[in-house]
Amino acid sequence: MPKTHIVLAGIDKMLPALSDLDVFLPLLSTYGTGQTLATYNNIISGPKQADDLDGPEELYIILLDNGRSDVLAHDQQRQALSCIKCGACQTVCPIYHTAGVSDFPSPIAAVTLPLQHAEMQHLSHTSTLCGSCKDVCPVKIDIPRLLLQNRKLFVDKGLVNRTEKWFYYAWKKAMLKREIMSWTGISARKHILDSLFKSKDGLRKMPIQSKEKPFNEWYREKMNYK
Ligand code: SF4
Repeated sequence: MPKTHIVLAGIDKMLPALSDLDVFLPLLSTYGTGQTLATYNNIISGPKQADDLDGPEELYIILLDNGRSDVLAHDQQRQALSCIKCGACQTVCPIYHTAGVSDFPSPIAAVTLPLQHAEMQHLSHTSTLCGSCKDVCPVKIDIPRLLLQNRKLFVDKGLVNRTEKWFYYAWKKAMLKREIMSWTGISARKHILDSLFKSKDGLRKMPIQSKEKPFNEWYREKMNYK
């Protein structure tokens, strides 16, 4: 051990009693690495005492807030602070596997980081909400619902992009009225879909294929609907 041991820990890492480790250590190792008990845990009770063979001469424990109280201030999202950092939600997340850790650290980080650092709000929108993370979480954090809570919070605070806001307004209007959808004609719709879903990395070379008639018109004719 070094002479001076300095521990840095988030305030969310506190447990009420040492006996709680009976539950949390096996839970962490089982969900994190598939072992009944991990080999990387140490129990340190303080600086070296007179009859100890080894140990640090001085021990400092620094508890970091770094925005965690901002997460705690939200009634729903504070649930995310009970995360034990096992990483199971990362393992099952399709976004994590596609985007990689630098663009999407983990599903639970997509809940907490945007509340801690304003410039990370995009993370809460970067999810399919498939629910795999919720199914696998050992402490039953409802991550998809918390991501939706974050999105609502950012909309309520007026932090969403104005263009995006108008896009969804127009999209909703068009989707709720068949006449508007049919108004543009098949080639205009094809053009819109092609531009919306055009591949940024050039992986999709083929334009979207479509029939001459929209399905709606074809079906109405086939069934002889007015
Ligand atoms: S949110 Fe749940 S599954 Fe994900 S790291 Fe935390 S405890 Fe593990």
